[in-house]
Amino acid sequence: MKITEYLRKKDGDKTPVSFELLPPMKGRGIESIYNSLDRLMEFNPPFINVTYHRSEYIYKKMPGGFFKKVITRKRPGTVGICAAIMNKYGVQAVPHLTCGGFSVEETEDALIDLHFLGVKNVLAIRGDAAKSEARFTPETGGHAYSSDLVKQIANMNKGIYLEEDLANAIETDFCIGVGGYPEKHFEAPNMNTDLKHLKKKVEMGANFIMTQMFFDNEKFFEFVKACREMDINVPIIPGLKPLTKRRQTTVIPSIFHVDIPDELELEIEKCKDDKAVEQVGKEWCINQSKELVKAGIPCLHFYTMSQSKIVSEIVREAM
Ligand code: FAD
Repeated sequence: MKITEYLRKKDGDKTPVSFELLPPMKGRGIESIYNSLDRLMEFNPPFINVTYHRSEYIYKKMPGGFFKKVITRKRPGTVGICAAIMNKYGVQAVPHLTCGGFSVEETEDALIDLHFLGVKNVLAIRGDAAKSEARFTPETGGHAYSSDLVKQIANMNKGIYLEEDLANAIETDFCIGVGGYPEKHFEAPNMNTDLKHLKKKVEMGANFIMTQMFFDNEKFFEFVKACREMDINVPIIPGLKPLTKRRQTTVIPSIFHVDIPDELELEIEKCKDDKAVEQVGKEWCINQSKELVKAGIPCLHFYTMSQSKIVSEIVREAM
């Protein structure tokens, strides 16, 4: 079922919960995905997101001190994992589809595969700059912004493919999600400009917004208010991640460009070890979840990041 259909039809007051999983590192099996889901399925998630990780260049040291530039992909398998999840658990899987690493033709082929597999929802995102580059560079013939990717998917939903003379082309039926940033996307000059770009994604055909993680609910509430004032009226699904290690208080802001509130940071400073940090992070996330649910969010999304046990404890206490 499409996420927006599910959100419209869901009965009762219970706020649904959904989860994001990362494909395992190359060379590892799919068991880590199954282990996580065996634990998380008790919460009846309407959908499970699976992230996409593009290829990147790395420099490998060779005998003689030379460096060889090699291409590698650390976490392949997004589409296969989605198919496996849908097959094993009978739940909708939501593959993340990026602009980075894809030409428009490759995007079209990927969407055809997903349609054949019965995937009904996709999260259309740009992707970050490759590690070897300072800023995001689209693939030759690829999309520069996620709004362009949304447009391509929305076109396929109308039977419009890249080959304009393709007769009677089948219409795909994707529900399209996009990313939103309660604390602003780090490249945007200001919040207002970022929101205009978000509005464009919705005008191009996005059906729902899924947010970057945040640790201060006020930022989310302000973001939703600003979206509504701009006439961005699709469902906005907040995404949460519990802090579990002290070093995350610096790593998370540098990777995801989000703030750790003073109060949380002070609590973590007092912790003797990571076990204590985990407890503080868990309690913080439980309180965030409870407040968000009370505020009437359409669905609560968790970035599990190999922490399905802690996430399941949070959901059990908060929901
Ligand atoms: P865009 O919407 O394209 O925006 C990128 C920047 O460009 C923003 O600053 C925006 O304001 C600006 N912009 C947009 N349109 C225009 C325009 N027309 N002209 C000028 N500027 C414009 N990354 C992965 O690699 N794999 C994943 O699986 C993944 N999953 C994610 C899931 C969620 C829910 C979120 C929020 C992010 C995820 N990311 C993932 C990270 C994402 O790829 C990065 O945040 C990326 O830097 C931006 O992606 P976007 O789709 O928001 O980009």
